[in-house]
Amino acid sequence: MLRAGIVVTGTEVLTGRVADANGPWLSEHLREVGVDVAHICVCGDRREDLTAQLRFLADQGVDLIVTSGGLGPTADDMTLPTVAEFAGTTLIFDATLEAAIMNRLRPIADRWENVDWEALRVGIAKQALVPARGEVLDPVGTAPGAIMNADGVLIVVLPGPPHELQRMWPSALDAAPFRALLGEDVTAIEQTTLRLYGITEPDIAETLRLAEGELGSLAALEITTCLRRSEVEVVTRFEADAHPLWTRLHEFIQTRHGAALFSADGSTVDDVVARLLNGRRLAVAESCTAGLLGARIADVPGSS
Ligand code: ATP
Ligand code: MG
Repeated sequence: MLRAGIVVTGTEVLTGRVADANGPWLSEHLREVGVDVAHICVCGDRREDLTAQLRFLADQGVDLIVTSGGLGPTADDMTLPTVAEFAGTTLIFDATLEAAIMNRLRPIADRWENVDWEALRVGIAKQALVPARGEVLDPVGTAPGAIMNADGVLIVVLPGPPHELQRMWPSALDAAPFRALLGEDVTAIEQTTLRLYGITEPDIAETLRLAEGELGSLAALEITTCLRRSEVEVVTRFEADAHPLWTRLHEFIQTRHGAALFSADGSTVDDVVARLLNGRRLAVAESCTAGLLGARIADVPGSS
């Protein structure tokens, strides 16, 4: 199975001022193309820290590194030169790209008061630097992304703003080096979620032990259990050939905890309740809850 590391850059993320939206998004989208994420690293806008994380991930033997952030026009945006140096290549100026970025920015800048055109030009020139050896991903905003190869590790460099990163993702997947890495048959890593109410984490741990005795090794299934809002959540990740084993484990849990197992398709208790109430009229009387029950019901789309 291909393994990846994600490096999220940005001092605002490191300090917690901005919650990381890119690491989890990338992790889920890599799962869909069959790539297992081994690490999500966060570092500030410092070159030596970014280099250290690239080095760490390469040392772990990952096949792929995806970076987010630090592609902007300001001095603290230094991802591209740092990754280029790591990949043993340099940056070269791309005049066509510079013109394209200027064309995109001019209509916006025309509406600003007191535009410092010189500063704007310097920023654009910085964003028009592309790796001499590697692929350029067309900008979604003003910053292009890039794909480089560092000693057999593919590094995909994406912008920080989540909507830009997400919109650039399809072109990254479609780029020749990424396609070559993924190979012919891309199969997602499967992920299932069971939710149970009225049992404890030790109960489910005991069930998994018994299941192992009955079904044999569960090593092909990566099972994590966690307690959330009094519900036990069992999330299992596995490759396609372990699907029959997963089916048998699901049956085993169903047999032992049939009454507690209320969801096997990822739906939450709110979804299940909404489904049961579908088409009915409902009045809610609650006390000492600050309207929580009504709010949770009304939160389901179409419930009003
Ligand atoms: P820009 O051209 O906007 O500077 P950039 O690629 O340099 O793009 P950053 O400077 O790292 O990106 O981030 C720009 C903004 O995007 C941040 O202020 C932040 O609001 C948002 N952002 C960046 N990284 C993340 C992240 N991991 N999760 C959520 N938001 C993020
Ligand atoms: Mg920036």
